[in-house]
Amino acid sequence: MPRRGREVARIAVKLIAKKTADGDPSGRYYWPLCATLSTVVKMSGTKWKIHKFGGSSLADAGCFERVGKIVLSTPHERIGVVVSAMGGMTNALLELAVIAEQGDDATTALNVIGQRYADTAKSLLSGDALVRLLDLWKEDSLDIGNILDTVARAHSAPQRSRDIMAGYGELWAARLLAAYLDAHAGNGRAGSWIDTRRVITVRHSDLGPAVNWDRSRAALQRVLDEDISDIAVITGFIAVDEQGMQTTLGRNGSDYSAAIFAALIEADALDIWTDVDGVMSADPRQVPDAEIIHSLSYNEAMELAYFGARVIHPQAMGPAIDNGIAVVIRNSFHPGHAGSRISAVTEPNGQVKGITAISGMALVNIEGSGMIGVPGTADRLFAALKDAGVSVTLISHASSEHSICIAVPGELGSRAKRVISDAFADELAGGQIQSVDVTDRQSIVAVVGDGMAGHPGIAARFFANLGHAGINVRAIAQGSSERNISAVIDSNDVTRALRVVHSGFYLSDKTISVGIIGTGVIGGTLLDQMHNERERLQRKFKLDLRVRAIARSSHMLLGERRIELDDWRSVLENGGKSTDLKAFERHVHADHLPHAVIIDCTADEEIAGKYADWLARGIHVITPNKKAFSGSQEYYKKICKDAAEGGSHYLYETTVGAALPILRTIRDLVDTGDRIHSIRGILSGTLAYLFNVYDGSKPFSEIVVDARQNGFAEPDPRDDLSGMDVARKLTILARELGLELEIGDFPVQSLVPEALREVGVDEFLQRLPAYDAQVQALYQEARAAGLKLRYVATLDDQGHAAVGLEKVPQTDSFSNMQLTDNLVQFRTDRYAQNPLVIQGPGAGPEVTAGGVFGDLLKLVSFLGDGPLI
Ligand code: ASP
Ligand code: MG
Repeated sequence: MPRRGREVARIAVKLIAKKTADGDPSGRYYWPLCATLSTVVKMSGTKWKIHKFGGSSLADAGCFERVGKIVLSTPHERIGVVVSAMGGMTNALLELAVIAEQGDDATTALNVIGQRYADTAKSLLSGDALVRLLDLWKEDSLDIGNILDTVARAHSAPQRSRDIMAGYGELWAARLLAAYLDAHAGNGRAGSWIDTRRVITVRHSDLGPAVNWDRSRAALQRVLDEDISDIAVITGFIAVDEQGMQTTLGRNGSDYSAAIFAALIEADALDIWTDVDGVMSADPRQVPDAEIIHSLSYNEAMELAYFGARVIHPQAMGPAIDNGIAVVIRNSFHPGHAGSRISAVTEPNGQVKGITAISGMALVNIEGSGMIGVPGTADRLFAALKDAGVSVTLISHASSEHSICIAVPGELGSRAKRVISDAFADELAGGQIQSVDVTDRQSIVAVVGDGMAGHPGIAARFFANLGHAGINVRAIAQGSSERNISAVIDSNDVTRALRVVHSGFYLSDKTISVGIIGTGVIGGTLLDQMHNERERLQRKFKLDLRVRAIARSSHMLLGERRIELDDWRSVLENGGKSTDLKAFERHVHADHLPHAVIIDCTADEEIAGKYADWLARGIHVITPNKKAFSGSQEYYKKICKDAAEGGSHYLYETTVGAALPILRTIRDLVDTGDRIHSIRGILSGTLAYLFNVYDGSKPFSEIVVDARQNGFAEPDPRDDLSGMDVARKLTILARELGLELEIGDFPVQSLVPEALREVGVDEFLQRLPAYDAQVQALYQEARAAGLKLRYVATLDDQGHAAVGLEKVPQTDSFSNMQLTDNLVQFRTDRYAQNPLVIQGPGAGPEVTAGGVFGDLLKLVSFLGDGPLI
């Protein structure tokens, strides 16, 4: 109903009521109308939206403006805005009492408070509104001064004085926000503020303040009968007790105020605004990958709140639950975010909602054969603990009844031991109970979620994750609500436990922490390719490849969640830290992510020397770097052994023929029982190019220079011409066949003239033409015989290997090749008549990086929940 209509109805009701009260007979005549109008008034105003802003959302003038924007853009017609004191204000007010109790003068401290308030008000208000507000503050400050005087004289602040002092923060915040909203809403839409000392009556009990609903409801009705504006600000935290004296709802009680108010006014929604985006799946300070939980049930929220996810005060849940009011936790600094919705809805999908921990516990274990089958043992135990004021957090009692294990707050551990030992003194003396032990520095880690009920496998996953991380579980508890599974572990393990368990439940098993070393052409191209495919892989395969570390020789970048790959080049260029491979490795191998891989895109021998260590620690390795796999036989074996121990994988398809599936083919043949008799191949793109192009018309040395300029040869072409690169590849192939072969075991023909082996590159290129005639002669000789010159690697299953120039017939496939193509022939039992041939470009950044990327996807298919493709 439009505001004007409601206003008219409300005024009419008041007039009629007055007439009746005045004894005007026409009043009676209008009564039926009055009843209808009352309903109209009530109905039209029924659905309120309640916002609650905590102290952090009201810390300064900027915060008030932000809050104003949120409130004024709320589509609801009637809005209640419950406020806490400005951040830190309650503490500051209570501190005044402490100062006065010591007999000191608190005036200066009070002035600091006043100054802060006045400064904030001055940036938000002007004119009469500001003057009014500051006058009211002046009055309050005089009252506070009087209270402080009394406190100072008595050297003690009674609870009641403390309550009165503490409550001013909410009064000030409410007045200020109401005035600010009034100035900005226009049309008298805002401006009212409701002092909850006039509305909420509570009774204090052991379990905290309990609302007297009847009294509070009636009081609210009286307040609403006054002319309250559509947007009304409401004080949080303060209330009265049943004697009508001011009290509070306890520290951080404004959430509770908001829920009570929402229940009284029958609001349909309560938004609690704070400074985080919502309830998180774990404490983000411990678990960097924690996520906002979009929706959770009241019970889940309470479980999590108990365990320290202090986004909402658990007390506030009561009135919300009883009245089915959905509570939404939102961030006033980020109002676009939908936040976490807490409601009666439970999702029976087997999901764990949050993972939490309480630290600083002690575990008390009572053990003894005398307890078996004896009724009343537990009763005596808990009675003793109750009498000693020890509250028990967790109980675990195995069906053997041989022991009872309880977790209590750490500081109560020894008291618990004492009272239990006293209670069972006779049994301890008589040997029916053998021991009462206390273990300190324990923590409880718990997974929470309604949806766990009736879903097998959750506990298995929980404990499997702890087990994989080598974390010992000392006690376990799960209630039959199945909403919480708790494990007691050593406090030293708690962060790691939270991380591994969180990743086990929250992350796809295909979440991989990736570190890349080497940002030259291959590494750089790989990063670009990964950047381009990231979104698609995530969508299609839930594959989350997180490049979290990039290193080159001088600098490295580490990203907590991931490094954004759109501008890694400039970020690395302009910053980063100096490279420290130990720190790099630690960062990549993060506890909170299920898998880690290091991709070595260098040709560095020293880095290759680290693979075994990485693999032993469970870090997977992918690389186009030949050094490790063609190095000493001993290191090669160590790699294989350490990887097996670490349960990790190493993939290096691109060390031979770039992305051509050469190693994969060998493995498939061997694993399916074929026997490879021989391998013959052109394994160097550079040498292939030189001999494909050379036809005697242009000197060989010029072709070498051309190849170098076109990027077909290394900056020092001798790396290729020496044949060492081919020899390394052949060694890798031999080892795939199970042969123990090392460089030096077989002949390698170097095409670098003896005299030019030790000179500088420039001199080498300068003097190379002197040898053109030799190549020319070889070429002519072959040509005369109808043959072509090719640089070939051969290997047989007896371990005979050789690398060097061969003259091959024109009809041979080796004779008819393109540019930098590689070609490998396999003769096997199955491919006996005609060899199996793999041919294609065996070098170049695009294909090599693509091959490395392919290895990464292959790695994923080895991990976790099944094949990727
Ligand atoms: N201002 C009160 C306190 O700091 C109540 C609240 O913020 O919820 O405890
Ligand atoms: Mg290959």
